[in-house]
Amino acid sequence: MNTLSSPATVAQDATHVFHRQLRHGLPVAVSGQGMTLTDASGKTYLDACGGAAVSCLGHGHPEVRAAMHAQIDRLTYAHTSFFTTGVAEELADLLIDTAPAGMSHVYFVSGGSEAVEAALKMARQYFVEIGQPQRRHFIARRQSYHGNTLGALAVGGNAWRREQFQPLLIDVTHVAPCYEYRDRRADESAEQYGQRLVAELSEAIERLGPQNVMAFVAETVGGATAGVLTAVPGYFKGVRELCDRHGILLILDEVMCGMGRTGTLHACEQEGVVPDLMTIAKGLGGGYQPIGAVLAQGRVVGAFRQGSGLFQHGHTYLGHAVACAAALAVQRVIQRDGLLAQVRERGAALQALLQQAFAGHPQVGDIRGRGLFWGLELVAERGSKRWFDPALRLHARVKSEAMAGGLMVYPMGGTVDGRCGDHILLAPPFIASEADLGEIVERLRAALDRAV
Ligand code: PLP
Repeated sequence: MNTLSSPATVAQDATHVFHRQLRHGLPVAVSGQGMTLTDASGKTYLDACGGAAVSCLGHGHPEVRAAMHAQIDRLTYAHTSFFTTGVAEELADLLIDTAPAGMSHVYFVSGGSEAVEAALKMARQYFVEIGQPQRRHFIARRQSYHGNTLGALAVGGNAWRREQFQPLLIDVTHVAPCYEYRDRRADESAEQYGQRLVAELSEAIERLGPQNVMAFVAETVGGATAGVLTAVPGYFKGVRELCDRHGILLILDEVMCGMGRTGTLHACEQEGVVPDLMTIAKGLGGGYQPIGAVLAQGRVVGAFRQGSGLFQHGHTYLGHAVACAAALAVQRVIQRDGLLAQVRERGAALQALLQQAFAGHPQVGDIRGRGLFWGLELVAERGSKRWFDPALRLHARVKSEAMAGGLMVYPMGGTVDGRCGDHILLAPPFIASEADLGEIVERLRAALDRAV
């Protein structure tokens, strides 16, 4: 494709890029500023989802760009088997200074799936290092998403994403997620529901043999499968206690919900638990560069130090200097501008706007979220909570109607087990004004009404 004479949209038969969707064209993005992206025709799109909960500072932030330019002028790349860099060290210091208690080290990677892969291998090698090589099982949750590489896909519980790759995946035991809207029984309180889920996890551990289990893997707040699944009070505390009782590691995946998205830097702060390993990505670099990380507890790192002295894992681009510079700048702006408080305040405003626009909407069954991380669950009928026929691909229709109306929202749906239904995810940049949020909700309402 010749971009100089580019149309606003590249047709599916006029591109050599192996796009995800091969049946329809895509608009050509040419610039981004603040809350908006602009395509080659000059049309602007209000970014209500940060792509996929990535662009936490919005687009084109001048300080992040300047930090990247400065790093490019100094040093772009030094392989991590030869060197460390000042910028990687500084970023790790910042992340550990602000991390939950006991976290002592940061393992840098290039994105969320890589972070999950690294955490899984860290868990396995940890048990080899401490002389428990028989531990070889992971337990994770249904309706979860941990990435598209094979290990991450195996622990993930999105049936639609897994189905055709099943022969390539390691065997993982899946238990129920915390999905209060659908799964809490009328005769139990939120706390009792959480205890029931912990009991289910306990049974799974007993079935496998506690001495054989490496780790329980969960998103602290579920994101990309079933539209922002928040935990009921006490659930994660129960999970933590269970893991401690059996010497099982707790891996919390905060690739999507972490780095301020829910109003605290880490979503687990609101659950009162500290994981052994925590994965972060998206909001870490805010989309300015590909970067992710695993934060690890001192005792895990200590086992490697006292054992083989080597984590047998690594990628060419880990700790990339320009990626670290971008992430450092993003995180410094968030700290300096008090954006976590702003996420909480604007999050409350967004919640109110969503309630106003959708609480009585016949096709919106549930509105749930935290901070600037909100999901709408779409239903054909509110009373029975019946989903739309998956063949209608309602989530995709809402997305294309939203794009037509100049709005980016993140759609989810399309499972093969009939469990996930259609959801719309909102994860606007932390810089969104109340007026932006009002505009987002208004355009979303119009898009939904056109789509159904
Ligand atoms: N983990 C979670 C919770 C995610 O939401 C995602 C992506 O959406 C990933 C892992 C995978 O991250 P990436 O797409 O950067 O590989």
